[in-house]
Amino acid sequence: MTTGFQLVHKWIERNRGLGKTDEEMMKVQFVYEGTLYRLRKTDNGEIAVDAEPGTVIIFRDERELEDELTCRICGARYTNKIDTIRCCMNGDE
Ligand SMILES: [Zn+2]
Repeated sequence: MTTGFQLVHKWIERNRGLGKTDEEMMKVQFVYEGTLYRLRKTDNGEIAVDAEPGTVIIFRDERELEDELTCRICGARYTNKIDTIRCCMNGDE
């Protein structure tokens, strides 16, 4: 078992614990390094993980890039990533 498989299985366990249904989880795909992981229902109703090795290219739109400039803790906006990351990690605010 590779690390990618372990991560996907951990994610499945965790999200099942959080109350996600199998149907909701089946819509999620995972990328670890150059491999795409997809979930599939087996004949006996269990979730299996399929791996498709290759090259993965992720296109991101501008709105997603803007989100990186928003502090995930307090929602403050910055013009560069470093300020965003430092925002709520600085204890002297
Ligand atoms: Zn903040």
